[in-house]
Amino acid sequence: MEARTAFVRRVLGVAGLLLMAAAAVAQPAPADLLLVNAGVYTLAWDDPSPDGAPAANAPRAATGFRPDAEAVAVRGDRIVFVGSARGAQAYRGLKTRTMDLRGATVLPGLVDSHTHIVGLGERQSQVDLVGVASEEEAVERVAAFARRIPKGQWILGRGWDEGAWANRYPTKTLLSERVPAHPVRLSGLHGFAVWANRLALERAGITRASVAPEGGEIVTDPSGEPTGILLNRATAVLEKAVPEPTEEQYKGHVLAGLTRMARDGYVAIHEAGADRRLMRAFQSLDAEGRLPVRVYAMLSARDVDLCRQWLRRGPDRDNGRMLTTRSVKAFDDGALGSRGARLLEDYSDRVGHRGVGGTQYGFDQALVAGMMEAGFQAAIHAIGDAGNRETLDFIESVLAGRPESRLLRHRIEHAQVLHPEDVPRFARLGVIASMEPPHCVEDKAWAEARLGPVRVKGAYAWRTLRKAGARLAFNSDLTGSDHDIFYGLHSAITRRDRSGEPAGGWHPEQRMTPEEAVRGYTTWNAYVASWDKESGVLAPGRWADITVMDIDPLVVGATDPDRLLHGSILATIVAGKVAYVTDTLGKAGGK
Ligand SMILES: [Zn+2]
Repeated sequence: MEARTAFVRRVLGVAGLLLMAAAAVAQPAPADLLLVNAGVYTLAWDDPSPDGAPAANAPRAATGFRPDAEAVAVRGDRIVFVGSARGAQAYRGLKTRTMDLRGATVLPGLVDSHTHIVGLGERQSQVDLVGVASEEEAVERVAAFARRIPKGQWILGRGWDEGAWANRYPTKTLLSERVPAHPVRLSGLHGFAVWANRLALERAGITRASVAPEGGEIVTDPSGEPTGILLNRATAVLEKAVPEPTEEQYKGHVLAGLTRMARDGYVAIHEAGADRRLMRAFQSLDAEGRLPVRVYAMLSARDVDLCRQWLRRGPDRDNGRMLTTRSVKAFDDGALGSRGARLLEDYSDRVGHRGVGGTQYGFDQALVAGMMEAGFQAAIHAIGDAGNRETLDFIESVLAGRPESRLLRHRIEHAQVLHPEDVPRFARLGVIASMEPPHCVEDKAWAEARLGPVRVKGAYAWRTLRKAGARLAFNSDLTGSDHDIFYGLHSAITRRDRSGEPAGGWHPEQRMTPEEAVRGYTTWNAYVASWDKESGVLAPGRWADITVMDIDPLVVGATDPDRLLHGSILATIVAGKVAYVTDTLGKAGGK
């Protein structure tokens, strides 16, 4: 009897195991998050050719690109499934959060590979006056903002247009009436005027007796009383009275900037030049688990002590944390607009002037070479053709002694104006051209004046670089430019500005295809950070870093690219967490 029972038990046991094994094959562990009803582009197919033609294995229909999957399943911080709606059903469990994307487009998470995040964060804590039409409207915005701020604390704002308002500057009167208990400083859109209320002038000690510094003006009324407007170098007199943010406030700005990036579809940023204060903020947010997006930090070579510290410690070797530090940012020259960029020949609009570069511009080559030898990626700002040549020479000299350093994927930030002879050196040295598509449409008004008709052909020369085998990375250089991804894609695809000028695109032979533009902000940026094993494409095992948008950039970018400017971000998923979701999608789709 007992033997029979044991036998039956054994048989049942074996059968049970078999059943469980069968179930395991059919039923994977449930996902935490399921994205369904989506147009997913995995970008897991091959790169387009240097002239932009899609790879043979790209998902194309007769009319153009089509999504290559319908659903994504996420468990923990990783993707566990990408494929058909049917296939995704197996990942649905009792606790799975399912988001019905109603046909929205899903891409590998966007990365901005060159940012200055504090400026963006500061703006989040200021009154935004961009686009205000009148003094009254501006004052109302400040008054509404003041209700949330303790009395006596400074209120900062920016964005009223001191150019457009030059003939009818506002005064302190209405501003002081409506906001009497806070000192208020409102910077103009272009940074050469400041508008203050009575309390702010008081705090800065600005009276009828004040004398403006040379090159500045404290505007007064006919009686000699300061009106509240300070121009040009006089703005500094008020600026000095605004207290420096505390460590906690500064950290708040960093967090606000990163949170804004998540809201705008980005899963990661590369911070272009972090000093010790910024590194402290990143490290502290990372330790507290509060980084809303991944941060790839380039240490500022201008903070020599910080660099020495990291030289002793060595670069981050793995990608295990939300914060990765293994890059150093240096400057070889200045900017083209202000004629600071170093050119091989004179500026076309200033004879005898070639800008300043290299060690004369404070480029500490020994420090950067030492860091490259210690395993850090070099990220060097170079704008002019001479600046780029000097930087390529420098990188080449370091690689000559240490060829394996090439694996660190060194990069030139901006790579804006290139001599034709230097273009092939990018591919030869494995140097990445890290560029801002918006700069081309923003600079087009004066770039040709600086460079003349021949040199300008080597400016913002994305296609020339790709044809020469160079790798590109796309970014915004925020807050120098707008980080809005739809603006970035539009600039890259059309080389037209927001108002559609010029109609045929500015030097249109340099345009990128929609696929190249999208890759510039995704797969190619993953490569630059050496995150390409973990991210950049949507596939099982990769980081669950995902962007959802309401427009298909691969299709719309080809058929009606100006429509891109009306796109919007619906959700951002970072390391498996929903870092941002629109209200509509969050309510209807989130279960
Ligand atoms: Zn920058």
